[in-house]
Amino acid sequence: MGSKVSGFSKTVGKFTRERKRGKIPEITWFPKNYEVRRGQREFIEEASETIKNNEIFLGSAPCGIGKSLGSLLAVLPQIRENKLLICFRTRSQLHIYLKELRALGHNPPTVSFFSKQDMCPLYRKGGLSYFDFLEECNRLKVNSESSTKPYCRFYRKVIRKRKEAEEVALDCARKILGPREAVRWMSRRGFCAYEALKKVLNRVAIFLGTYHYVFNPSIREALLKSFEVDLSNVYIVVDEAHNLPAFSRELLSDQLTQNTLEDALKETETFENEALLSVREYLTLLEEVFQRARKSLKKEELKQLNPQRFDALFVDKSGVSGSEVAETLHEYGEHVREARRELGYERIFSYNHRVGEFMERFFAKVETKYIHLVKRDWKERIVLEVRSLDGREITDPVLQQARGSILMSGFLSPLKIYKDLILYDHGGVHLKEFDSPFPSENRLILTAVDVSSQFKKRTNKMLEKWRDYIETISEVNEGNMAVFFTSYGLLHSLLPLVRTHRKEIVEQRKTRRGEVIAQLAKSTDNILFGVMGGKFSEGIDYPNNLLTCAVAVGLPYATWDVHQKALIKYFNHQFSGNGRTYAYLTPAVLRLIQACGRVHRSAVDKGCIVLLDERVTHPSIKPQLPNYFQKEMKIVRSQIDCGEQIGNFWKKWSHERGHIYSGGIASHT
Ligand code: SF4
Repeated sequence: MGSKVSGFSKTVGKFTRERKRGKIPEITWFPKNYEVRRGQREFIEEASETIKNNEIFLGSAPCGIGKSLGSLLAVLPQIRENKLLICFRTRSQLHIYLKELRALGHNPPTVSFFSKQDMCPLYRKGGLSYFDFLEECNRLKVNSESSTKPYCRFYRKVIRKRKEAEEVALDCARKILGPREAVRWMSRRGFCAYEALKKVLNRVAIFLGTYHYVFNPSIREALLKSFEVDLSNVYIVVDEAHNLPAFSRELLSDQLTQNTLEDALKETETFENEALLSVREYLTLLEEVFQRARKSLKKEELKQLNPQRFDALFVDKSGVSGSEVAETLHEYGEHVREARRELGYERIFSYNHRVGEFMERFFAKVETKYIHLVKRDWKERIVLEVRSLDGREITDPVLQQARGSILMSGFLSPLKIYKDLILYDHGGVHLKEFDSPFPSENRLILTAVDVSSQFKKRTNKMLEKWRDYIETISEVNEGNMAVFFTSYGLLHSLLPLVRTHRKEIVEQRKTRRGEVIAQLAKSTDNILFGVMGGKFSEGIDYPNNLLTCAVAVGLPYATWDVHQKALIKYFNHQFSGNGRTYAYLTPAVLRLIQACGRVHRSAVDKGCIVLLDERVTHPSIKPQLPNYFQKEMKIVRSQIDCGEQIGNFWKKWSHERGHIYSGGIASHT
């Protein structure tokens, strides 16, 4: 949110005049004493105008513009009887919206959801897969209606005291409580928060949830039904929209692990059925495929499968097609679920049902926009997969049918590529890239042109050059620094060579974000080693200038494997020969910029960004960087040059050094 200022009346006066000219949305929505930030006003105006025409706005707006509040101020003054759905990839964004909504001049009733299991006072702590949980919840709900044990006491109270449940739920919506607070508030009164809040959705204006609530067709349909509207009455805000292409592809993909298959085979020992022999035969054939893959695949190796040849295997060995196999497993799975229900099992599910469901998708999704794979993952599991290469069939219809949509991210660049990856139809789409609102004198962006992570140049000599850069930067930088690598492999090749005076923190799978932030807050002489695309380079805030330097070692291209090649080939066909840029370069630049963006989290943060790969200066790559990177990036030709530039940068701020330590880091200690 923006800052409180004394000169607010002047701002309001200007806004009122502009509002009269139809340029600015209703100012009574603005939080009290609020000053609109640099770039935010433009964001509000353009997004507001776009959705007024029932169109789609794509905004690339760096950290600090205040785009969460901006999107609310673009939609809410014109919402009337319509609804607003705000969705995000990670839950960490939710609290920002809740804070902004509570501060507004008007507070429309708002409901926010995590997943149903996360909001269930009985099963929140896990123990059941999500699918099993839904089955169990349904069973308890049905039992609650007839008061048959076991039932859910929280749901029973919702149906028995419906009016009271709805009153308490509306109270949560008026107070704009988050999911956790609402669950606490309602379960203390004996109600299921999820079910009670669902009953009042037709009386609220705003809903916040993960992408699933908006883009998963069955979940969205259920939500709209509770809302009592269709998409044409809904405005949509998509936060962190750079995630949307990958998310929608994932939604259309599916996978099967060997463990599920083994469980399906075990299941046949318990549940008799006339199809049992065939079921066992098909599962055994599938198991042979898994065993052959285990022998032929190295760790983390991926191979393409031909679904026709897979289909022929079933025809040859058992005389039926792959889709018939899928149908038999599915039907047997239904029988198992029914049997579990009748026998009074606690959990109603079937592994065969799951295998059948996967096989159905595997044989049905055979167009060029899918790829079939088998892999050995990092946990050594063998996994069969059908992966989508194009998520537009998920995103396009939703965004086109909505009343108006705002898609935004700190980095959605180049906007045209994201537009192409999200929408088929490009009519009525407005693109806008905003500059960083933070003062340019607070940052130094350097690119070293004597280093490269290009595969053929990755020699011991290159490792030594990178080491020299890291050690030099460590000497001259003031405050904590982070070094992000293209992969764990590169990180561990370089780590033993690097010697600094700093305390080392090395990212591992089990390293927790909170612990690292606490460590950085204790002193200013830490060096964090992580990977680009990892948990310390994306979706994490380092507040109060906890990081004053980010070094990116290399350009983080994805692993060059059959999936990557298939994606490039498919995009080449879809986007006039630009497959490599769309599938390979854009995601790499996104990971790079996300990592570099960890340093400047507020207008007063100061620090350096060092890119240790000359390729970012190439004419094919540089235009992919954010505008302010392209404008401000300085070339360095050696680590000595780099050290001098960083030293001079900090000298310039030496009078403020006390401020950095006392205002920022020290406040955490
Ligand atoms: S009805 Fe609510 S409280 Fe009961 S099991 Fe389902 S989610 Fe949990």
